[in-house]
Amino acid sequence: MTGTAERRLVLLGATGSIGAQSLEVLARYPGIARLHGLAVGGSRPQQVAEQVLVHRPERLVVADPGHAETIERTVTVACADAGIATPRIDAGQNAVIDLAGSLGDHDVVLNAITGSVGLLPTLAALTSGARLALANKESLVVGGHLVTAAAAPGQILPVDSEHTAIAQALAGVRPDQVSRLVVTASGGPFRGRTREQLATVTPEQALAHPTWAMGRVITTNSATLVNKALEVIEACFQFDLPEDRVDVVVHPQSIVHSMVTLVDGSTIAQASPPDMRHAIGWALAHPEKLPGLAAALDFSAAQSWTFEPVDEDTFPAIAIARASHREGGGAMAAYNAANEEAVDAFFAGDLSFLGITELIREVLDHPRRPRADLTDGVDGVLAVETWARGAARSLIGEQGR
Ligand code: NAD
Ligand code: MG
Repeated sequence: MTGTAERRLVLLGATGSIGAQSLEVLARYPGIARLHGLAVGGSRPQQVAEQVLVHRPERLVVADPGHAETIERTVTVACADAGIATPRIDAGQNAVIDLAGSLGDHDVVLNAITGSVGLLPTLAALTSGARLALANKESLVVGGHLVTAAAAPGQILPVDSEHTAIAQALAGVRPDQVSRLVVTASGGPFRGRTREQLATVTPEQALAHPTWAMGRVITTNSATLVNKALEVIEACFQFDLPEDRVDVVVHPQSIVHSMVTLVDGSTIAQASPPDMRHAIGWALAHPEKLPGLAAALDFSAAQSWTFEPVDEDTFPAIAIARASHREGGGAMAAYNAANEEAVDAFFAGDLSFLGITELIREVLDHPRRPRADLTDGVDGVLAVETWARGAARSLIGEQGR
């Protein structure tokens, strides 16, 4: 690639599913950028040490201070054994935000943290002027207005297969030529099941995704269809459209990653075998294309691609999210916070699978839910979050579900 030799990359969430695949892409295409810094939660010291040895970042941030000492020791020993300089190591959430905001216009920040804790790093990266390759969809869901207000046109490049697909389908298309976005959904592991059949689902069953290997929260969200719900909101903010112009269609093969229907009746689709390295490489290298980034479709073998409507009665998560987007303000922050608490409770054995979506609905219907005003800024969003987490926990505790 030309003209990017000096470009630096900060990778937030380096040890996760997206983070590790991003480093694979970077190792194969070192011309994309030089790795400046990594941020990790901290629970995987050996993986972090290996990443540091291969990519030699100047900075390393451990978000959870409880893990900082172990990471520092492991990384320091590994660097000494290899005879390379140890990176500067900081700890805590403020250090993650500082790292996210430490680059400039020619650089790129890839936010692959899970959860709404990614919001402040997203805002810091946008303020710095760096390109933001955004896998952390939660930051766009909970702080959509703040994030879009902080972003220059084209500054955010989505790292989410559906939104990466839509962005590609929109190349050369004017906003007034777009009729609808069509987001595809695999349907998750429980496609075709009834509510009765879902009553006894275990975390292990929810983690068996048919087409994608991902982190725990997003995999659970794929089973409840909360992930698709978050993606509808993500699409509304990323592409500046109301929710009633963003459709969802179930496509179990996960080959067509999403589509755009134009005003003249034409539908443009992006298709490739399911592989997140495609979305990661697209966002990091844009507008260049990385030769051989991921396998292409092979049409020498017969195949069929099918599409069917979402069973909204069994999976109400999308309809609830649409209502929260129409309401605006802090409703989407409450939705996401309730879901994050619900997923934790599901894994702790304190909430049933169907209870996850029920809890989101109860938190949103709560008579005392605060209505954040957009003028309240990030503090308003965070206040709604805190309230929603508290409300979710007490509802879980009360009902002992
Ligand atoms: P994951 O759970 O595998 O990884 C999360 C990473 O974030 C880990 O490295 C963890 O250590 C780190 N982390 C946790 N808290 C942190 C904090 N406060 N500061 C810095 N780092 C922190 O998750 P994932 O599956 O890689 O997903 C990451 C994000 O990408 C999510 O928002 C998810 O919805 C989105 N996404 C993932 C996929 C996928 O295929 N995995 C696809 C599309 C979008
Ligand atoms: Mg997706």
